[in-house]
Amino acid sequence: MLEIKNLVVQIEDKRILNGLNLTVNKGEVAAIMGPNGSGKSTLSYVIAGKEDYEVLDGEILLDGQNLLEMEADQRAAAGVFLAFQYPLEIPGVGSMTFLKAAMNAQRKARGEDELTTPEFIKQVNAAAAQLEIPKDMLKRALNVGFSGGEKKRMEILQMALLQPSFCILDETDSGLDIDALRIVSEGVNALRSPDRAFLVITHYQRLLNHIVPDTVHVMHGGRIVRSGGKELALELEANGYADYRESEAA
Ligand code: ADP
Ligand code: MG
Ligand code: MG
Repeated sequence: MLEIKNLVVQIEDKRILNGLNLTVNKGEVAAIMGPNGSGKSTLSYVIAGKEDYEVLDGEILLDGQNLLEMEADQRAAAGVFLAFQYPLEIPGVGSMTFLKAAMNAQRKARGEDELTTPEFIKQVNAAAAQLEIPKDMLKRALNVGFSGGEKKRMEILQMALLQPSFCILDETDSGLDIDALRIVSEGVNALRSPDRAFLVITHYQRLLNHIVPDTVHVMHGGRIVRSGGKELALELEANGYADYRESEAA
């Protein structure tokens, strides 16, 4: 489904991704682990189409479509969704207004009719209940004054409503207490399906006890340096990333 070949990316003359290769199949949950600064967030932004990054080489294909030739909104319409490590607070934009606009923008890009308000409310209420999001939270401006856990739940709510085919979760576990971690993980697990793939970026193994990955990739120095099954996460938890730092120095 997602195929990244020899991706080289820089920002302000600083090389961040260095010939990264990664394949994620349909139905797969792929975890990316790696030390701080290894380029994990940069990879997620480049897939989602955030500007500022200069792609020097390589390609990113989603179902054979070249994502690098598409604007961020076209990528979203094609099914790419990024749950941010640090969700933005948007004063003046109500959460419900935002959700409806996001859903309708997606429908428009796909040539579908706008959602009616009753349909929209029905869908939001169902998804919010599953994520244990109280109604009054949705009456507030987007993410403004939300706790870390509430912001992450809001990201997963967006994902549940947009039903993307390729979901990227960038350190969704950071700032979550154990209850919020469970709720967020259940929300993600409910979306697992044979025609949807996930890229779960995390610094710690903890999240992967709840969202059990099919594959684990270790990122270091802007490339994938090792790939394996879910047991690789346990090995990393036990040994840390020191092995990879040494192999780089060697
Ligand atoms: P990770 O998510 O793995 O912690 P990042 O992708 O956030 O890593 O960052 C990788 C490297 O790129 C870091 O050294 C970081 O300082 C650098 N970097 C990221 N964004 C920028 C930017 N906008 N300007 C300059 N350097 C950046
Ligand atoms: Mg980081
Ligand atoms: Mg990061």
